Amino acid sequence: MSYDKNNIFAKILRGDIPCKKVFENDYALAFWDINPQAPTHVLVIPKGAYVSFDDFSMHADAEQIAGFIKAAGHVARELGVTQDGFRLISNCGVNGGQEVPHFHLHILAGRRLGKMVQAA
Ligand code: AMP
Repeated sequence: MSYDKNNIFAKILRGDIPCKKVFENDYALAFWDINPQAPTHVLVIPKGAYVSFDDFSMHADAEQIAGFIKAAGHVARELGVTQDGFRLISNCGVNGGQEVPHFHLHILAGRRLGKMVQAA
C-alpha cells in the first residue's frame, strides 16, 4: 500500500488541521485522540511517511525507529501512566482494524482496560 499524503495524520503533521499536542521532537508527534477510548488516550506518530507498523519496521532506519520508540516512552512517562500501567496498541491493516493509514501507537490508560482482544 502506498502512502496517502492526504491522510488525516499527514494533515496534522503539516499543520493543515489542528491537534491537541502532547509532545513533539524530530522523530515523533504525540496528541490526544479525538475519540478517546480511555481516560488517557494519546496517539504517537512518526514524523516520516509510513503507512503502518509493517511499513515502518521494514523501511525506517535504526535512528528513526529508536527515536520514535524513545519518544513514545517519554510521552507515557510525561502522561504519568507508567506507575499504574497502560496499554500500547498499533492496529495494522484491515484485520488489525487500522483506520488511519499513517503508522501510530495508541497509549491507553487511566482505568483497567480489560481483555486485550474482544471475544469473537
Ligand atoms: P486506528 O484505528 O488505529 O487507525 O486509529 C485511528 C485513531 O485516530 C482513532 O482512535 C481515532 O479516534 C483517531 N483520530 C482520527 N482523527 C483524529 C484527529 N483529527 N485527531 C485526533 N485523533 C484522531
